[in-house]
Amino acid sequence: MEAADIAGKCVLVIEDNPLNMRLFTAMLNAQGLTVLQAGDGQTGVDLAYREQPDLIIADINLPGISGLDATQILKEDPATRDIPIIVTSAYEASEDEIRASRCDAFLAKPISVAAFLARIEELISHAPREPRLVRRLIDAHTTSA
Ligand code: MN
Repeated sequence: MEAADIAGKCVLVIEDNPLNMRLFTAMLNAQGLTVLQAGDGQTGVDLAYREQPDLIIADINLPGISGLDATQILKEDPATRDIPIIVTSAYEASEDEIRASRCDAFLAKPISVAAFLARIEELISHAPREPRLVRRLIDAHTTSA
C-alpha cells in the first residue's frame, strides 16, 4: 500500500459560500494541493476548460448554472470529461440528477474530512492522464508555430 502522491496537483473548487470555500481551500492546501476558486457555475466551467485541473469539487446550489449542470457540461466535452468531479451539497439531491450529471462522487455536507480526503486521493491517483502537462505541451507547440 503506497501513499498516493497528490501534492502539487491542482483542484478547482466551485463554491458560492465563502466559509465553505475557505474550509475547502485550507484542507486542500494542507495536503499540498493548489486550489483554483470559482464562486459560480459558469466561472467554474470556464476555469476548468482553461486550467485543466486534476480534480473539481462542485457545490450544487450556485448562482447561475448549478454544480450538476456544470458537471454535465464538462463530462459531455472530450476536452474536460476525464477530469474527476466531486459534487457536494447540504440539501437533499435527487439520485437520478446526481447520476445524470456523471459526477465521479457525491458527498453530503457537512462533509467528513477523512472521507473527503480519501475520495480526493483515490480520484486524483486514478485520473487517466496528466491534463495540465498535455495542455502545456500543446500551448508551447501552438505558440512556437
Ligand atoms: Mn451553494
